[in-house]
Amino acid sequence: MKKAYLLLTVLSAALLISCSNIQVEIPSSGSVQEQEAPKDNSETDNENSENDENDNIQEGKSEDPTSLIDLSLNPNELGEMMILMYHGIGDTESDWQRTPENFRKDLEYMYENKYQMISLNDYAKGEIKTKAGYTPIILTFDDGRQNNFNYIEENGQLVIDPDCAVGILEEFKNKYSDFDVTASFFLGTNPFGQKEYVNEKINFLVDNGYDIGNHTYSHEKLEMLGSDDIQAEIGSVNNIINTYVPDYKIETLALPHGSNPKDEYLDYMLEGSYEGKEYKNIAVLDVGWRPAYSPFDTMNDFKSLYRVTASEIKVDNCGMYDYFKQFEAGSRERFISDGNSNVVTIPKRHEEYLNKEMTGEKIINIY
Ligand SMILES: [Zn+2]
Repeated sequence: MKKAYLLLTVLSAALLISCSNIQVEIPSSGSVQEQEAPKDNSETDNENSENDENDNIQEGKSEDPTSLIDLSLNPNELGEMMILMYHGIGDTESDWQRTPENFRKDLEYMYENKYQMISLNDYAKGEIKTKAGYTPIILTFDDGRQNNFNYIEENGQLVIDPDCAVGILEEFKNKYSDFDVTASFFLGTNPFGQKEYVNEKINFLVDNGYDIGNHTYSHEKLEMLGSDDIQAEIGSVNNIINTYVPDYKIETLALPHGSNPKDEYLDYMLEGSYEGKEYKNIAVLDVGWRPAYSPFDTMNDFKSLYRVTASEIKVDNCGMYDYFKQFEAGSRERFISDGNSNVVTIPKRHEEYLNKEMTGEKIINIY
């Protein structure tokens, strides 16, 4: 069984090599990171429900949650999932831009094929709240372009442009009440253009369940910079965003050009301070070109997370629909949730890849 998994890994490595424009480094396998053990959210529904008539509190409380997992759905919480890399949403489709129609097509596809959006922050903390039988998927937007979040005037009122990324995401939120719509926006200076509305936009995102990540101040390759500059590049963006949303914690970083700092400065990518304020990143995103590992997989490296280009052109078999197809065909194993974020259910054949530092106090359910 291990061989089968290794073969998969080798095949995916081969696939990776067949992609052009490779900018990712294959992370050293088994580099287990020190992660904070996920907090135990073990409040159950039973504890929350105040039932006047039924004092039989013990009932259900001692019930083994693993007995409620539906194994016929083939849950596999060591399968892969995609962290999609979007940039612009606009009239012409290009390498770094998706049309509104195509973005709607992507979302429709996800909805029809049992993908549910989760936040990158939840992924990085191993808090997967996806419904049983569904596969999590993460949407990321780099560069903070105006077409990600644009306000327009309509009949004298300010409204969200229905064809910008946020407009389309909100459309789907309203269209499908059972679709967990969210995305992470990676911002630098001048987020989303329209300087006069920055405060409104940032607050809208935070209030409506979206996440904000850091894409550095000047979008320079971090490999060119020393420790002071790296800290300024990262820390200044957090400080700017926090002037609009003081309590919001920015914990994720998308590397401009997928460029890592030199080895000796790598720590500053994760932790540092600028103008007296500290920052800490729990997830760092690369540029491409394959699905990410499960957060519970020892192969995963939160310092260098793979993304998949959300495009159908010039992606040489490494675009989002190529991987959707592979997931559908079963030639790649997708993460299939067991429906309980406090239980990690995995097929026996993957047992040795389970990262117990990440699962922490969660219940492990192997079948
Ligand atoms: Zn960028």
